[in-house]
Amino acid sequence: SAELEQEQIVDVHEKFYEFVRSFRDRNGSYKYRERIKQMITMGQKSLIIDYNDLYLFDNRLARLLIEKPDEVLQQASEAVKEIVLHEAPDYAESIDRFYVRIRALPRVVPLRRLRSEYLGKLVMLEGILVRTTPVKEKIVKARFMHCTREHGCHKFDWPPEGELVGDILERPPACPVCGSSSGTFRLLPEESKLIDWQRIVLQERPEEVPPGQLPRSIEVVLQDELVDSARPGDRVSIVGIVRVRPDSISKKRAVYDLYIEANHIEVSQKILEEVVITREDEERIRALAKDPWVRKRIIASIAPAIYGHWDIKEAIALALFGGVPKVTEDGVRIRGDIHVLIVGDPGTAKSQLLQYAARIAPRGIYTTGKGATAAGLTAAVIRDKTTGEYYLEAGALVLADGGVAAIDEIDKMRDEDRVAIHEAMEQQTVSIAKAGIVAKLNARTTVIAAGNPKFGRYLTNRTLADNINLPVTILSRFDLIFILKDRPSPEEDRKLARHVLEVHRETERIKPEIDPSLLKKYISYARRYIRPRLTPEASKLIEDFYVEMRRMSSENPEGPIAITARQLEALIRLAEAHAKMALRTEVTREDAEAAIRLMKTFLESSGMD
Ligand code: ADP
Ligand code: ZN
Ligand code: MG
Repeated sequence: SAELEQEQIVDVHEKFYEFVRSFRDRNGSYKYRERIKQMITMGQKSLIIDYNDLYLFDNRLARLLIEKPDEVLQQASEAVKEIVLHEAPDYAESIDRFYVRIRALPRVVPLRRLRSEYLGKLVMLEGILVRTTPVKEKIVKARFMHCTREHGCHKFDWPPEGELVGDILERPPACPVCGSSSGTFRLLPEESKLIDWQRIVLQERPEEVPPGQLPRSIEVVLQDELVDSARPGDRVSIVGIVRVRPDSISKKRAVYDLYIEANHIEVSQKILEEVVITREDEERIRALAKDPWVRKRIIASIAPAIYGHWDIKEAIALALFGGVPKVTEDGVRIRGDIHVLIVGDPGTAKSQLLQYAARIAPRGIYTTGKGATAAGLTAAVIRDKTTGEYYLEAGALVLADGGVAAIDEIDKMRDEDRVAIHEAMEQQTVSIAKAGIVAKLNARTTVIAAGNPKFGRYLTNRTLADNINLPVTILSRFDLIFILKDRPSPEEDRKLARHVLEVHRETERIKPEIDPSLLKKYISYARRYIRPRLTPEASKLIEDFYVEMRRMSSENPEGPIAITARQLEALIRLAEAHAKMALRTEVTREDAEAAIRLMKTFLESSGMD
């Protein structure tokens, strides 16, 4: 069968040539002939092929591509060159190598399943890009100078025609010009042929990681046009060839690491597509939204084992749905994300609430202020201990782009994050410039955070800002802040005790009103499709309340929270989220009232009243 395969590989060139020339899509147009024309006019050198098209054309060829990608892609690339030679000879001559890139393989290999059985094969992986190195230059064709006593000095290219430098550049065993292996061989980097080269790390998406386990990751090498085509935090789909490389830590020649040489990379634009919503789901979602008690039921479904804290649960629910992001005419983005902070005494269920929120949020991440990785909450430039190389790594707010980051013990965040989180929470980007790495990453992330009081307990005679180890500039970026004081109260304590005891006695009772998996789909659906608009009545109500708040705060300039246009925006977002919760497309009077009520609770509890 090896012979058969060899035979198959022999006519790959012709078959591929045929495919590009004759394949027609459903509309009858010559899809790839057109793409080649486009490639020439745009001055590009890659032809992107949908795997399914190739499969329809010749399933044996398509299967061979998966099994023997190196050979097939090499021949495919030559076939493309031949076609371009017909169409635009000058252009074809100016390009060293055309690339055939494959998209959308029928199957995604989970990162956890990637093993040596895939070695040398073409695979598709999905994940989140967590780390990138700066772009480097790799030699693909080396030019050497050979000098000997007998023949003097002369130059030659290495490796010979038709081959390219692999992972390691080795000195030629003998000079192809004079045949001698003695004398000196000197590499001339400026005269060698270089391509852009970059190493990135792909990690499992947080929602794929089994509970209690660490996310797996794999290194991916990007070359030529592919470098810098994605940024840390991007969700990507990568098609590439599985390769091995000596393991960098053990330095034992027998231990190898798998890595991927990318052939194609696609950034997923659709943030919420990961939560799959079927037709039946949609029907259930629509039916649920019709229930006049839907909001109450949603709020009651958040951490049902936790007694009380209705306002906080409502705020969390609103944050999970979020407002509507807007872009002004001059291109300024106004966030739709609602940030919520809970400051409270120890043991008041803050961590429990946050963990639950992260669980039902699409793209939810639970982390602590210190951050789960060296990149912390925002991003960092880090030096690899084994290679000495600098790389850019995304932190929690970037990884949760398009979703929700539940940050516990936010008061303990790193100093770097204290600086960067301002930009992340308002402009929703993270900028970094360090050790030659300059980047701006997306962090369109809702922050639901909790912090412990600075003095161990919340001191009522001090202001909010005094009670928590966070600067006012960060506090002011939260739309709502709640203060949880743990004060004995016989009546409340008894109710809490009964609730907790009940939960422990019959676990059936903690079954939430709405099943968490349905709730997650419901939230995802609302975030994807519902963009409510303010009605005049709702606008008027919010306007009046804002003016009144400003008036009151001017009478009390020492107040803990300065009332600015930020609170106005917060009110709008909260009202929008309240409408979204019932999948309504209009923000009504009732929605505005709910927003105002929560804002009042916040201002009163922080000592504003
Ligand atoms: P915190 O993060 O505020 O210090 P935790 O979330 O760790 O508190 O909660 C401590 C424990 O107390 C948890 O097991 C939690 O379930 C329980 N607990 C605290 N408040 C409540 C409540 N209101 N209802 C039910 N359980 C509670
Ligand atoms: Zn020589
Ligand atoms: Mg805690």
